[in-house]
Amino acid sequence: MSLLLDYSLLHELATRSQAVSTACSCVNRSLVGWESMPVSLPEEQLREVGTLAHVAEEEATFSEYHPDNTRYWSADAPIAPRYFPYNRCNVYECVECGRCFLRYTEGGGYFVDRRIRLLTASPMVDAPL
Ligand SMILES: [Zn+2]
Repeated sequence: MSLLLDYSLLHELATRSQAVSTACSCVNRSLVGWESMPVSLPEEQLREVGTLAHVAEEEATFSEYHPDNTRYWSADAPIAPRYFPYNRCNVYECVECGRCFLRYTEGGGYFVDRRIRLLTASPMVDAPL
């Protein structure tokens, strides 16, 4: 079982992650918005910290949270843990530098894409559903 992360824990991880300023291969490519998992970032470099999946995947909403007209791919789209896709993400940290990332698998059936986004404390919103 993964550790269930509540908002305050998530925010704490994000704040800690944001403070990391050392150069590291995990951020060779900007992951400030959602991206497909870069091949330059090996699986072994990431360690799972916990999950934001508080409800079963089939019950988790597909609604997105964009009060300021951002879009899914926007680098400034708010991280709202109760909304898609954050509600099905796990949080990982880089074993080299400690930066944290959100990850989930998009799609199903014949279309599967592993996505990743750098975890940042801003913009992050504890928006109710
Ligand atoms: Zn790193």
